[in-house]
Amino acid sequence: AKRQGRNTCRIYEVSPEYAREHGLALRSRLRHALGNGELRLVYQPQVGTESEDIVGMEALLRWEHPELGPISPAVFIPLAEETGLIVPIGEWVLRTACRQAHEWEQRYGLRLRLGVNLSALQLMEPKLPATIFRALQETGLDPTLLELEVTESISIKAAPNLVENLRALHRLGCRIAIDDFGTGAASLDYLRKLPADRIKVDQSFVRNIGVDPDDEAIVRATIEMAHRLNRSVVAEGVETEQHLAFLRAEQCDELQGYLFCRPLPVVSFERLLAERQNL
Ligand code: C2E
Ligand code: CA
Ligand code: CA
Ligand code: CA
Repeated sequence: AKRQGRNTCRIYEVSPEYAREHGLALRSRLRHALGNGELRLVYQPQVGTESEDIVGMEALLRWEHPELGPISPAVFIPLAEETGLIVPIGEWVLRTACRQAHEWEQRYGLRLRLGVNLSALQLMEPKLPATIFRALQETGLDPTLLELEVTESISIKAAPNLVENLRALHRLGCRIAIDDFGTGAASLDYLRKLPADRIKVDQSFVRNIGVDPDDEAIVRATIEMAHRLNRSVVAEGVETEQHLAFLRAEQCDELQGYLFCRPLPVVSFERLLAERQNL
């Protein structure tokens, strides 16, 4: 399982060290990435724990640098956040992903849920709900099919508008998921204060199923707590049959990870849908 993780890293030529040294050049290049068509989205399926049917997908951003090749989001998302570029880029992500999800709904008649990641800067913008409302209207996607993923790394106190924005989006019908649950300092505070429908158990816990009994206990307790609060749970980073068996026994609602599928470009995702759902 770990082997796969390492392979994924190896496809990126640009190491975090390189990025630190050449940050300035990367930053200025990133400024033109959107206009130059260097950004694209891949989609990773989420499956029902029992059926293993595809029930949704998370949109994940990719940057293909013309000289350096693919650059990891772990490298360029922080740069996009520092420069504020994440706001226009994030808007493009929303629009592109919503258009794609609506097209799949029309074409295949499947009501797949679409997960989109939002960064702190976007969440602090007073006009975020209006931006998302417009994206939904222009693309035709049903708001209840859009799930906004918010990471716990954002401090509620330090982020003006965060709670108001999420409440407004929730009223629009969008779903809210707490991403990387358990890794921030504020997991429980998030659960109390944000209108969250779902929790995404962070892959650092899932990875240790079968390895570390403490992490297993945390996963088990997180699922139970979420269910008692009427929230559903998706586990990220599900890589092995052992992970799957454990998460099934604990009644985790949905799963996402390399065991089922890696993030896929549009054409491959469509091929998978056609195969898996007998379309
Ligand atoms: P994330 O939101 O936690 O996304 C899940 C990451 O786990 C993705 O990495 C995905 O490819 C990877 N993953 C999925 N299944 C497995 C598995 O079984 N094993 C392992 N080891 N990894 C798995 P990716 O695509 O490199 O994205 C990294 C992070 O970059 C994301 O973490 C998210 O925080 C950020 N990101 C990606 N796209 C966007 C975006 O459009 N907007 C914003 N604001 N952030 C994004
Ligand atoms: Ca996410
Ligand atoms: Ca995550
Ligand atoms: Ca993460």
